Amino acid sequence: MRQLVVVDPEKCNLSLACIRTCPTKAIKIEETHATIVPGRCIGCGHCVMVCSQNAISYRDEKQIVKDFLASGSKVAIICDPSISGEFVDITDHRKFVAMIRGLGFNYVLEMAFGIDLLAFRYRDLLHNFHGKYYIHTVCPPVAAYVEKFEPELVENLARMVPPYVVMAKVVREYYGDDLKLVYATACVAAKDDARMHKDDGRIDGVLTFIELRELFKEFKITENNVEYSEFDPPIGRKGGLYPIRRGMLQAVDINQELLSGDIISANGQFDFKESLSEFKSQTGLKQHLDLFYCEGCVMGPGMSPGGKKFMRRSEVIKYVNKRLKGLDLVNWHEQIEQFKDLDVSRTFKAQDRRLPMPPDSEIRRVLHEMGKSKAEDQLGCGACGYPSCREFAIAYCQGLTNYEMCYSYSINKLHTFINKVNATNEKLKKTKEALKDSEEKARAGEMAALEAAEVTTIMLDKINAGVVVVDENLKIMESNHVFVEMLGEDAQTINDTIPGLKGAELSALVPFHRLFASVLQSGQDMLNRDTPFGNSIFNVSVFTIKKHKAVGGIIRDLTSPNVRREEVINRARTVIRENLETVQQIAFLLGESASKTEKILSSIIDAQKLGTDTTSSEEKTDS
Ligand code: SF4
Ligand code: SF4
Repeated sequence: MRQLVVVDPEKCNLSLACIRTCPTKAIKIEETHATIVPGRCIGCGHCVMVCSQNAISYRDEKQIVKDFLASGSKVAIICDPSISGEFVDITDHRKFVAMIRGLGFNYVLEMAFGIDLLAFRYRDLLHNFHGKYYIHTVCPPVAAYVEKFEPELVENLARMVPPYVVMAKVVREYYGDDLKLVYATACVAAKDDARMHKDDGRIDGVLTFIELRELFKEFKITENNVEYSEFDPPIGRKGGLYPIRRGMLQAVDINQELLSGDIISANGQFDFKESLSEFKSQTGLKQHLDLFYCEGCVMGPGMSPGGKKFMRRSEVIKYVNKRLKGLDLVNWHEQIEQFKDLDVSRTFKAQDRRLPMPPDSEIRRVLHEMGKSKAEDQLGCGACGYPSCREFAIAYCQGLTNYEMCYSYSINKLHTFINKVNATNEKLKKTKEALKDSEEKARAGEMAALEAAEVTTIMLDKINAGVVVVDENLKIMESNHVFVEMLGEDAQTINDTIPGLKGAELSALVPFHRLFASVLQSGQDMLNRDTPFGNSIFNVSVFTIKKHKAVGGIIRDLTSPNVRREEVINRARTVIRENLETVQQIAFLLGESASKTEKILSSIIDAQKLGTDTTSSEEKTDS
C-alpha cells in the first residue's frame, strides 16, 4: 500500500511551506524537491493543506471503497460528526444520509454514539484519580507524536482506542461481523491509524470528506435526486460535539474539572507540543491533558479547503442541538447500558524517532560556513522553514536540508557569482576585442598573401623560362605558362582545368623528375643540367626553396631559337673565359681545358643542329 503522504517531485517548487508546518521534521530537502521521511511522519496532513502547488497528497482510498460496494458484501459507513461542519451546502442531514446510501452503503451510522461511550470511560478515568496524570487524546497524530518524539510519556497516554474504533466494535455487534466498514472523516492520519486496529475494531477503508464529495460527483449524486433518510441506530447524544474544542469533555458534562483546573485542554499543532513539553518538565503541570492536533476536527486536513473555523463550529453546535431535540433519551440510555462493558482498551509503544543532537562545535562550523558566525548575521528570517539560523544549522547536520535553502546564504552566493560573471564578461569583452583585432590583422595578412601570390604568378609568367615548384612528394605547387607550354598539348589540356598544374605528379609529366627528387633529398642545388625531352634538350636548374620540403626548377628549352641564341652567346663567353684562364694555367691543365672546350663546343653544335633541323622542318610544314 502507498505511503500515507507523498510529494510529487515534478510539482514541488521548494517553497518550504511544508517544512514550516511539519511538527516532526519529517520533511527532507533533496536536491530539487522536498520528500517525506516515512518513519518520522505522523500523518497529520498539514503539509498537504499548506502546499500551494498541490505537490503533496495523501493516499486516496476511493477505489478500495468502490470495490467493496461492487463486491456484493454488506458495507457500513461510520460518519465523523465533523460532517455537519463540512456539508453546510446540504440543507438537511437526512439528505446527506440519503446521498451516502445512494452510493450503495447498506448502513450509515454516526460516530457520536461511540464518542458518548468513550466519554464515560474517560470520565471514570478522571474520577478514579490515584495520583497519576493522564494524557488523553482521540487524535492519531498526537498519539503517534508521543510514541515517536516524547517516548517517555507513553506511560501517561490514556489507553483508550479512538472513537471510530469504539463505533466499529458497536456496529459489528449490532449488525454482524460479516460487514465491510468504512470510516468517513476529517482526519488523514486515521487512514494509517485504522490499520493498527484488528478484530472487531477493524476498519476496512477510510475516506476523507473530500474523497466522499468526489464520489458524489463521480456518481452524480446530489441532494436533489434523493429522498430523506435517517442515520441507522445506535444514535449518539452529545458525542456530536467531539469535533470542536473540549467537545469530548462536554459529551459527558465534565466541565467542572475544567473549571477546577484538573484538566488542561490544548489544541492546534503548536499548543499540543508545548503542553507536552511542560507536562514532561521537572516542575510539571500536575494536570491531565486533553489534546487535539488540529483546531478541532472541523479544521482537519480531510475537510474541504477554505472553510471558516467559527462558522464550522457553529454548524456543529447547531446540528447537535437539532439532533438532541429529537433524541429518544430512554433508548439512548438503554443502548449505552448495552455497550457499557465494551472493551475500549489499547496499548501504546515507544518508538523513539528523535534525531541525535549534533555537537555544538558542529553547529558552529555550519553557521560559520554559511557566513553566520556572528549573532547579528543570524537573521532568523524563517524563509528556510526553520525558526532560527541555529535550528537550520541543526537540521543541516541532521541531513534534512542544504545550504541553498537559506535565502541569505543563497543571495550572498548569488552576489559572488554575479561578480564572477561580471569579471568573466569583462575578460570576454577584452578577448573579443583582441580577437577582432587579430582577425583584422589575419584578414589583412591573407589579402597580402593573396596579392603576393598573384604577383608571384604574374612574375612567374613574365619569366622567359619554364618554372616549376614541387613539394616533398614531387607534387606541383606552382608552375608558369612557359613550363606548361614546354610540356606539350596534354599538359596544356590539364592546365585548362587545373591552372598551374597544381597538385599534378611531376614524375608523370617530365622524365627529369629525379633531379628534383635528388635535390629534395640532398638539399644540394643542381644547376644547368642538360637533359633531352622529346626532340628538345632542356637545360634544368633545380634549387632548394625549403630544405627537404620544397624545391623549384628553372627549365630552358635549349632548342628554342631565343634560348639558343642566348645560350650560344653564354656558352661562347664561357669558352673564351675558360680559354683565357687556360692560357694562364700550367701545361698539364691545357689538356683538360681543351677537352672541356671540345665538349662544350660539341653541345653547342648539337643544339644548333637540332634547332636548325626543327626550324627547317617547321618552315617546311608552314610552306
Ligand atoms: S503529514 Fe504532518 S507529520 Fe507528515 S510530513 Fe506532513 S506535516 Fe509532517
Ligand atoms: S483534530 Fe481531528 S482531524 Fe485533526 S488530527 Fe485530530 S483527529 Fe485528526
